[in-house]
Amino acid sequence: MKLRNKINISFLTIFVIALSIVGVVVNIYTTSLVRSKIVGYIDLSNKIKAYQIRTYIQNQLRESITLSSSLSLSDYLDTSLDTEQHSLAKHGLDILLNNFIKINQQVSEAFLINSMGIVVASTDETRIGLDRSNDKYFTEAKTNTFFKDVYYSSQTERESYVISSPVRNKNGDFDGVLAFRFNLDGLYQIVKGERKLEKSEDSFLVNKDKYFISKPLFLGEDAILKQKAETENVANCYKQEEIDITTKTGYEGLYNLYGSRILDVIDYRNVNVVATHAYIPETGWCLISKIDRVDVMSFHSTLLFIFLTVFLVTGVIFTAIVFVISNRLTNPIFDIITGTNKIKNGEYGYKINIKTNDEFRELGDAFNKMSETTKAYADTIEERVREQTNNIEEKVNEVEVQKAAILNILDDVENARQEVSLEKNKLEAILYSIGDGVFVVDENLNIILINEVAMKMTGYKDEELIGIKYYEKLKFIFEETGKINNNFIDDAIKTKTIQEMAKHTVLLTKDGTRIPVADSTAPIFNESGKVIGCVVVFRDVTLAREIDNAKTEFVSLASHQLRTPLTPIRLFSEMLLNEEVGKLNIQQKEYVDSISQSSKRMISLVNDLLNVSRLELGRLKIDPVSTNIEDFLQDIIKELSPTCQTKGCELVFNKPEEKLPDISIDRTLMRQVIQNLLTNAIRYSSIEKGSLITISVVKKDNNYIFSVQDNGIGIPADAQTHIFEKFYRAENAIKAEGEGSGLGLYIIKMIVEAAGGRLWFQSPPDSKNTGTVFHVSIPIFGMAKKEGDKGMIQENSLTNITKV
Ligand code: ADP
Repeated sequence: MKLRNKINISFLTIFVIALSIVGVVVNIYTTSLVRSKIVGYIDLSNKIKAYQIRTYIQNQLRESITLSSSLSLSDYLDTSLDTEQHSLAKHGLDILLNNFIKINQQVSEAFLINSMGIVVASTDETRIGLDRSNDKYFTEAKTNTFFKDVYYSSQTERESYVISSPVRNKNGDFDGVLAFRFNLDGLYQIVKGERKLEKSEDSFLVNKDKYFISKPLFLGEDAILKQKAETENVANCYKQEEIDITTKTGYEGLYNLYGSRILDVIDYRNVNVVATHAYIPETGWCLISKIDRVDVMSFHSTLLFIFLTVFLVTGVIFTAIVFVISNRLTNPIFDIITGTNKIKNGEYGYKINIKTNDEFRELGDAFNKMSETTKAYADTIEERVREQTNNIEEKVNEVEVQKAAILNILDDVENARQEVSLEKNKLEAILYSIGDGVFVVDENLNIILINEVAMKMTGYKDEELIGIKYYEKLKFIFEETGKINNNFIDDAIKTKTIQEMAKHTVLLTKDGTRIPVADSTAPIFNESGKVIGCVVVFRDVTLAREIDNAKTEFVSLASHQLRTPLTPIRLFSEMLLNEEVGKLNIQQKEYVDSISQSSKRMISLVNDLLNVSRLELGRLKIDPVSTNIEDFLQDIIKELSPTCQTKGCELVFNKPEEKLPDISIDRTLMRQVIQNLLTNAIRYSSIEKGSLITISVVKKDNNYIFSVQDNGIGIPADAQTHIFEKFYRAENAIKAEGEGSGLGLYIIKMIVEAAGGRLWFQSPPDSKNTGTVFHVSIPIFGMAKKEGDKGMIQENSLTNITKV
């Protein structure tokens, strides 16, 4: 709500409340005041009228007595009719009576009655001679002055009352009665009074019998002496107690008795009136004065109306003044509000004009200053906003460009994702179509993929395997020992190279069946070359094993058969060459030497084949004994050094810093392993530049690692996965060294693995002539002992030397 309205409403409310309070107070006050004033007036007026009536009657009584005592009356009555004295008395009497009538207009007849009751003189001559001897005003007046109450006089044809007094002679004897008949005009005049307060104000007289003797306001003349006034205050007026007090002490005594004599009563009309009464002891009348209660109230209402009108007019004027003042007071506030709204709506710098010489003007000045400052700020901010908007627009454009680029990237990503998904689907399709069992593990060795064949072979469903460590369910064990053989998987991840499954590995299926399996594990690299898992491929080799065994048996048998004729060939050719059976010419010597060399190679090959057969058939015997490794290696080096020197290379033993303890090894087999590696190193060293071949032993974790390093021709990348295969020889090896069976590494790998160790190599795949290093690990507790019926054929070393 606006301040102006608030002020106006507040003042109006105050005014209305004040008006109501004042109205109520005035109402209460005026009610009692007006009532007391009117009532007081009625009471007083009635009392005055009563006194006037009493005085009026008393005067008439007094005059009656006075006149009746006039001697001329008794003279008249006592003298004889014919006498001069009588006529004189008559003359005097006439003058007296007629003058009296003239003076007192209320007297309608003055007449004299003789002692016989006969009217002898009258102001109305027609009445002379009438007999009044039975009239009360004659009989009662014989002794005393008598008042005859109001009655209807047929003579005067109007209401009259009579006062009669006895006439006595000089001796005091009764001579007659002097009577005056009064009309009621004088009385009516008094009763009527001089002025009226209200229209309903009414005074009337009743006689002892409660008949009206004066005309009441609301009744006609007919009511006089015909209608009674049976009202409460008339009844009260005639209470003996009141009559006594009034007679004795006048009206004041009544005040002492009752307090106010004003009564709220019902008048002769059955109307509520405020009335008072006064008893007239001289006549026994009662004077009643009354006024309608409505008039009393209307007077009060008029008063109240006048008062409230004045108050209301004052209020309206007051409100108008308040309105004007409040307008004046609040106009500056409205100006400020208008100004504030203008500024709020961006009209910075808007000024207001307040001219009042007070705080509002100061406020207006402050507002104008604030407005100026705001405008200055707004201008600055607008400038900044413009700059910022330009920046934002530029940024938005950039963002749009970036958004487009991101959308492109997202497209690319989506395409790539689809491609990957396609690739994955392809991969899965390929994987599932592969006839071998395949499963893929991540870097934590959890299975992430497995194909149908693998599930069939293992007996597990994919949901039993996906997400778990592969070794929890998929058990690859060594056929003979039953020990777990997981090296090929772990090593593929560790060494980042393809690993072959060890020979004679079997898969333990879900139902406990043992299936001979073979194949390999390949690491999976991400783009940055990190190994993120590996693929394990395995196949059931039961049938292949049987065929292989048959083949091996055959090779073993054939080799034995070949060895038998080769031995005498070698012996006899050596005897011939040594000229034990006669001298040979140069050409013969050359031929025999060729025969001898060929037979040796044949023996070596046959030995190798036999050893392979033994190993494959699992007949190899391993018998480890505690051995001083340094001595052991020095011995081999010593043996091979001359051969090495002929190839222009140097053979060096890198002794370990700490002295090695004795290691439990099968010396024959270990010699064969080391010799084979050293022989290869010598054979595949570069003759042109000369080579350095080193052998070293270190203890690492739970193994002793023997390493043979050369800087020879190296192993090409495409050959690296085949290097341990039977009869395999790399192209560069064939070129460099024509002779070779491709069985050496195959044999020694089987030996090492059978003894619980491992054989592997490192050769940079792409660069040539950077050499190769072969590593052999033997557990620190030594080579595993193995019972078997066959050892390795001894001539092997000889064969290899021969090869070189
Ligand atoms: P052979 O030496 O009779 O060919 P091996 O089984 O001893 O048979 O070796 C197999 C093949 O491994 C060799 O033909 C050669 O390709 C490769 N090889 C072995 N040792 C080395 C080496 N030190 N340097 C380069 N290649 C080697």
